[in-house]
Amino acid sequence: MRCLFCNSENNKQSFLPSTFYNDKRFDYIKCNDCLLLFIHPRPNDEDLIRMYPPSYQGGVNRKILDNLSKKLDGLRFSYKSHFDLLESIGFDGTIIDFGCGSANFIVNAIKYGYLCDGAEYNPKHVEILKRELPERNFFTVDEFLNSSTVQYDVIRLSNVFEHFTDPKQMLADLKKKLKPNGYLLLEGPIETNFNLALQFRKLYFKTRMVLQPNRRVEHTPTHIIFTNRKNQLEIFKQFGFKTIEFKVQESAWPFPTKFSNANGIVQKLNVIIARISIAFSKVMPKWGNTFLYLGQKVD
Ligand SMILES: [Zn+2]
Repeated sequence: MRCLFCNSENNKQSFLPSTFYNDKRFDYIKCNDCLLLFIHPRPNDEDLIRMYPPSYQGGVNRKILDNLSKKLDGLRFSYKSHFDLLESIGFDGTIIDFGCGSANFIVNAIKYGYLCDGAEYNPKHVEILKRELPERNFFTVDEFLNSSTVQYDVIRLSNVFEHFTDPKQMLADLKKKLKPNGYLLLEGPIETNFNLALQFRKLYFKTRMVLQPNRRVEHTPTHIIFTNRKNQLEIFKQFGFKTIEFKVQESAWPFPTKFSNANGIVQKLNVIIARISIAFSKVMPKWGNTFLYLGQKVD
């Protein structure tokens, strides 16, 4: 099997236990060359349909935030940090939120004064978006990527990149949908980037593998790639994007953020580890498990 970033066939099993889903075993493989962690085999269409049923997006979320600087649960950075980045380059163009989900970013971006459209995978969900927000344009992913005329100044991806089954092909396709000198604005996880909580998780999984070698893990393999700061930046560069900003931040995720959400001693310990890890990452700017990126298409 080849690495999804660098094509190397030099790899090994990673610390993450294999998961059984849809009557198949998915392994987490680590590339020894670029250190990307990727799933093998890649989920096929049948797996993906099961992973993302129409209920996955849960309709349209019209909530206009009182405080744009507040980070929403499940997201990596606040909407304001996205708007600030766009303002820092004097941006005044069109945005498409690729994988727009409930369109909550779009309704807040419109309120803020941006022209923002959206694309989503499930055609039924796209119909809902079109009906509920008729003032903007919505596309299925296929419609958007196959259109020969539609192009944008900014393509935004929030918690989307790590779900692509062919991230390089997708970057190539998305690049074609950008106007000359257009921008990619991304936020997402860098799950194998150095941080203290990750060292703890590795130790935990490795110990458990020794103590319970026959443990069966059955979670949905939604994340296809697990990146770090270096290989994530490298892939954008390889596709002709100039980095304007790459901000790394540590968040408690996948550990609980509050003691009140932690059940049992292990989860409470996880809250403490997450807090220590966040404190360390504040003084070590390259440590952290999430990123915000702005890059400009230069060729
Ligand atoms: Zn690689």
